[in-house]
Amino acid sequence: MWDEQGTQYLDAFAGLWCVNLGYGRKELIDAASQQMAQLPYYNLFFNTSTEPVINLAKTLASIAPAHINNAFFCGSGSEANDTVFRMVRRYWDLKQQPTKKIFIGRHNGYHGSTVAGASLGGMGYMHKQGDLPINGVVHINQPYWFGEGGDLTPEEFGLQRAQELESKILEIGADNVAAFVAEPIQGAGGIIIPPSTYWPEIQRIVKKYNILLVVDEVICGFGRTGNWFGCDTLDIKADLMPIAKGLSSGYLPIGGVLIADHVAETFKQENSGDLNHGFTYSGHPVCAAVALANVNIIRDENIIENVQQNTGPYLAAQLQRLSDHPLVGEVRSAGLLAAIELVKDKTSRSRFDSKGTAGSSCRDHALANGLILRATGDTMLLSPPLVITNTEIDQLISKISLALDNTYNDLTTPK
Ligand SMILES: *Cc1c(COP(=O)(O)O)cnc(C)c1O
Repeated sequence: MWDEQGTQYLDAFAGLWCVNLGYGRKELIDAASQQMAQLPYYNLFFNTSTEPVINLAKTLASIAPAHINNAFFCGSGSEANDTVFRMVRRYWDLKQQPTKKIFIGRHNGYHGSTVAGASLGGMGYMHKQGDLPINGVVHINQPYWFGEGGDLTPEEFGLQRAQELESKILEIGADNVAAFVAEPIQGAGGIIIPPSTYWPEIQRIVKKYNILLVVDEVICGFGRTGNWFGCDTLDIKADLMPIAKGLSSGYLPIGGVLIADHVAETFKQENSGDLNHGFTYSGHPVCAAVALANVNIIRDENIIENVQQNTGPYLAAQLQRLSDHPLVGEVRSAGLLAAIELVKDKTSRSRFDSKGTAGSSCRDHALANGLILRATGDTMLLSPPLVITNTEIDQLISKISLALDNTYNDLTTPK
């Protein structure tokens, strides 16, 4: 990318976790203009549909886990999570269990910025405004070992945080709980990869208490972690998967919810009645055409295999070399999703006194050095386009190294 002065940047954040195919893919531009010329708009409300939407749904069913073969489309990840909210409650009504209404989310989870999305999410700074979360949404703690694990091993801590779900269900009563909602790997919260014990225990609990599992794939989907979905990487069996971002590589706005067969069947039963839900731009044909072209390119160019076998491991190995840096407390990655924790003391994992100073300083130094990344508090976040090459990863690492050195100097030089 180049700014208005012609300065060049390596965008190691793929716009906002979404430009998976990188900028300037002519096939996506052509898909949009051809669909615009063919049929710029039609709706999906009255037993009508359009070709790109039908083909996109078919293609998503073919790449999603085997038990997921239905899709609902909308305009964004937030709308996808709002759709989940309504769909899950309607599902339990149809199952004759109308008391199952409460959603359990996680502190520091992110599920969007609409009323339901921000409520399901656990961002304190969002909840502070406008009396969120709304009724019927509660939260448990996150599996963030580096920040909150104390003296426990990651495995002990992962188990403990998963078991908070069981305690919360027992407190509310399983008959009142509709669903647990979580990202496979938290994105906006700081690329938090749960300990290996976490997801198996979560899945044991949701099964035991008959609770739907909503796995928000808005960031992890479409190759980010080295498989089509975060669920594939972490071996999670979801009932509903909100998607957006990488679905169209951000070229046009589109989101959706992928729906497991047993949920979809409930809505298709005779006399089940409609879910009275939908948007004017649900399955917008131009957005769907671009998403379809995007998914086809990811598949046909073996982009996910390359992330899994080549660039993902290469990035992990190069990041590991940064762990000797005095500022770096931990590096972690899954595919092309990576985090660097900045600390004052490596052994105790303690932070600098004014939280976020190291992070924003590092981000500013990186930017001045032609590298775009993001900081959440003192955690540096990387999510480069999936087409990044190993040579570009070398550039990325040397730019981060320099930013770390500069940040270290700032923090340790007396003013
Ligand atoms: C970005 C994001 C959303 C919200 O998507 P929007 O398109 O911004 O509405 C929801 N969930 C996750 C995990 C996200 O990262």
